[in-house]
Amino acid sequence: MKTHFSDLKPSPRILLGPGPSNVHPRVLRAMATPLVGHLDPEFLVIMDETKDLLRYVFQTENELTIPVSGTGSAGMEASLCNIIEPGDKVAVVVKGVFGERMCDVAGRCGAQVKRIEVEWGRVVEPDQVKAALKDGDVRVVALVHAETSTGVLQPLEEVSQVVHEHGAFLLVDTVTSLGGHPVKVDEWGIDICYSGSQKCLSCPPGLAPITFNDKAAEAMRNRKSKVQSWYLDMTMVEKYWGQERAYHHTAPITMNYALREALLLIYEEGLETRFERHRLNHQALLAGLQAMGLEPFAQAGHRLWTLNAVRVPEGVEDAKVRRRLLDEFSIEIGGGLGPLKGRIWRIGLMGYSSSKRNVLLFLGALETVLRQEGYQLEAGAGVAAATDVYS
Ligand SMILES: *Cc1c(COP(=O)(O)O)cnc(C)c1O
Repeated sequence: MKTHFSDLKPSPRILLGPGPSNVHPRVLRAMATPLVGHLDPEFLVIMDETKDLLRYVFQTENELTIPVSGTGSAGMEASLCNIIEPGDKVAVVVKGVFGERMCDVAGRCGAQVKRIEVEWGRVVEPDQVKAALKDGDVRVVALVHAETSTGVLQPLEEVSQVVHEHGAFLLVDTVTSLGGHPVKVDEWGIDICYSGSQKCLSCPPGLAPITFNDKAAEAMRNRKSKVQSWYLDMTMVEKYWGQERAYHHTAPITMNYALREALLLIYEEGLETRFERHRLNHQALLAGLQAMGLEPFAQAGHRLWTLNAVRVPEGVEDAKVRRRLLDEFSIEIGGGLGPLKGRIWRIGLMGYSSSKRNVLLFLGALETVLRQEGYQLEAGAGVAAATDVYS
């Protein structure tokens, strides 16, 4: 075993990938707050405030609105495993990596999974969902609002109508939209919705906000079979977060401090101001990238503000460019996943990372690297185009 260990001194990164995003200093400070017990009356106040703030960001009145202990995938698993009983038919829209993951999780919960396949980079049309529901008895329709692997924002209102006309539950992943794009849980009729702490909420990874409306919560409480996961069984977890405050598992205290602080920052900024900030920075970044000759990947009119997918230009080495951005500029961006590996870059502008400063810095850095890699582009074109958007 070695006897000398490195100091913990990670480089200060500008996190412009698919998550985590940079964390506000106030959230980091909250994480250095001394621990109290998970049943301490003072912690119970923090829990209640967190639930209120989560209702604010989810735009819901749902009573059962809590952070699940675990990352976004724990939110996905909790959403699916609590509503699915073995043998249930579950329709999942697959238009990227995360829809694919939902199929895997739903299958493990014993669902008969019906895939609604959509070309990566595009949204699902309400008619495609309608067609999948034709033969009846689909219990749940699950889909991703902001598909982080493709940069596509899925409109939900019409899909929601179709799902409810067929008597199914609508289950939505908002991991890359909550806190960056409007997510109107009540107005859009989302029955079950989950997210993750480290994307547009700008908190470290470790908690997954989740909300169930009364109908979904009722269905969950009236299950015939036990939830297959003990840890994520919301009928037990809700007793800790509800009036009973009954011990289930020890809440990750520090993560909950952090999430409460991150949510408070959102509340202070105001949802509308925050969405506008994300929209503007996305527009500026995209204008800059296009001026540099890069093409957006996602379907026009449905591009995420929080995750910008662009095609890697012909003749440019994907991994090398990303590595140079990291080594020379300390900027992280994401590469493509699955079939998009080597073909796209994913540039996140999430939460605290979504700023004019980061947009201009990134465009300048990318230009420098691309020119040195032999890619022809007009000097300063990207930054100039972005600056135009801001002025
Ligand atoms: C990141 C992400 C997840 C998974 O979250 P983890 O925190 O990595 O477990 C799920 N869905 C979407 C859309 C995501 O972007």
